[in-house]
Amino acid sequence: MRGTPRKHRKGVLFQMSRIYNFSAGPSMLPLEVLNRAAAEMTDYNGSGMSVMEMSHRSKVFQSIADETELRFRRVLGIPDNYDVLFLQGGASLQFAMVPMNLLKTTADYVVSGEFSGKAYKEACKYGSIRLAATGEANNFTKIPTQDELSLNPDADYLHLCHNNTIYGTTWQYVPETPAPIVADMSSDILSMPVDVSRFGVIYAGAQKNMAPAGLTVVIIRHDLISDPMPFTPAMMTYGVHAKAKSMYNTPPCYQIYILKLVLEWLENLGGLEAMQAINIKKAALLYEFLDSSAFFQPIADPGSRSRMNVTFRAPTPELDDAFVKASSAAGFSNLKGHRLVGHMRASIYNAMPMEGVEKLVAFMRDFEKANA
Ligand code: PMP
Repeated sequence: MRGTPRKHRKGVLFQMSRIYNFSAGPSMLPLEVLNRAAAEMTDYNGSGMSVMEMSHRSKVFQSIADETELRFRRVLGIPDNYDVLFLQGGASLQFAMVPMNLLKTTADYVVSGEFSGKAYKEACKYGSIRLAATGEANNFTKIPTQDELSLNPDADYLHLCHNNTIYGTTWQYVPETPAPIVADMSSDILSMPVDVSRFGVIYAGAQKNMAPAGLTVVIIRHDLISDPMPFTPAMMTYGVHAKAKSMYNTPPCYQIYILKLVLEWLENLGGLEAMQAINIKKAALLYEFLDSSAFFQPIADPGSRSRMNVTFRAPTPELDDAFVKASSAAGFSNLKGHRLVGHMRASIYNAMPMEGVEKLVAFMRDFEKANA
């Protein structure tokens, strides 16, 4: 993948020496998207300015925002009774916005990892919250089964984190409950088709599969936008953003534009069915190798494995460190596991090409031979 810098036809210099970046987020964006953004950097579509320099109220930016929403709705098949909001504050702000806007009496939370734990803690500040399940006893290697959930049918909502970025686990079923489900899909949105109608709210930070950090997308069933708690700031009120069509204040314009390019890339690829098929292949290649290795071991329970974040370990912490160092020197960056859990993690989001996973597996095979 490495090469010499080239001059783009419009005079923009761009670097061809890219490495395989396994970062959990911010993470790789499709090269086609980056090249297109580079080509349009100083003059977007004959406007004579960069998207970064445009008024968010201008016609030209409005058309970018409209097209982004339209494509996002089309790609995910979002029903008409859902609003799509382009917000800021990261997924972390949603940990507070969800209870402030949706909590009336009580809500259920499943703690399946770090971020759902943070969401739970935050929600507890605003009212009566029940723990529907926690994966603490098994070090968050497993998603609870339906039978293991203690659900309150009268809860205002059930909150879960759909893909646990740090622990490499994912929900492989949608729980049965009469309560609306609120799902944090920060690390697996746009990686597969989703039946949006099974959820009340889906929220996601952009910096894995959508765009650079700074944009949070919220998909919310319209009837769930109701009276927030009286002290809720306007900026944290879903209704305010829905009414203003995400233009209550200056939105993250450039991130919205990059999301548009990513959606174009996804649609050209064949949409989420096609993306899912590629993601299944990439993850299978890595897990099959891990399952067959006498040296490396996968960490997540087989029934809960994430296709986006693959966690694994070598036989000793010293060999973990040696692997991270050697892989980085060989051009595979960010394979060190999250500081909370250590070991290794390969984040293989949409933009990671199959070739990156193939090369990683070949490298791991060689490392095993040399160190077993
Ligand atoms: N939820 C999940 C699943 C995440 O992976 C992250 C961050 N990686 C967050 C929430 C927090 O997101 P942010 O940093 O955008 O607030």
